[in-house]
Amino acid sequence: MFRQLDYKCQWYGRELVKIDRFYPSSKRCNHCGFVVEELPLDVRSWDCPSCETTGIDRNINAGKNILAAGLAVIVCGADVRPDNHSVKGQLRKTRTSRKKQKPRS
Ligand SMILES: [Zn+2]
Repeated sequence: MFRQLDYKCQWYGRELVKIDRFYPSSKRCNHCGFVVEELPLDVRSWDCPSCETTGIDRNINAGKNILAAGLAVIVCGADVRPDNHSVKGQLRKTRTSRKKQKPRS
């Protein structure tokens, strides 16, 4: 699945960082870090109730969050890699049992 990306990254001398698929990239405000409870897929832009930023574009916001998460992993080894679930098994369990999570598109 990541073979193409791996190849491209090696070609361009870039580092590939994989992010947890349950990382709330769309639902997290990239301005203040607030995470909204629900963000249905048909909502393309939203307003942050915490910092009151308006018109947050779902995809651009997610892109900024994923970039920030990837940089956090490289710089300080942040805990957003998929591999870390074995260590945080407890946390994963409560997250998935709460509600069925649809895979993000
Ligand atoms: Zn905010």
